[in-house]
Amino acid sequence: MEIEPLWALREGAEMTLPRDIEFCPHCEDYHQPVPVSLEQTYTIRDWSTTITVHTTACSRCGKEIGSDEIDDRTLTAVYAEYRRQIGGKEE
Ligand SMILES: [Zn+2]
Repeated sequence: MEIEPLWALREGAEMTLPRDIEFCPHCEDYHQPVPVSLEQTYTIRDWSTTITVHTTACSRCGKEIGSDEIDDRTLTAVYAEYRRQIGGKEE
């Protein structure tokens, strides 16, 4: 029995790439991203913080795909945390 890919079942999806796959630069191919949470440490000057980043990884190779939007959101959270801890002490 042949198993159809998930997107083949979607209405109107035959001519376009399904919206729920992303290009994986590690595989150099399109795969479905899966949501993952990673602990990442960011350093600003002599201050550093470890935050949980909610991003996406390739379902094939398991490596992070991410996106500019996720990077932006992560950096915003890092700077907010920086201001919360260091805020007001700037010279
Ligand atoms: Zn991959």
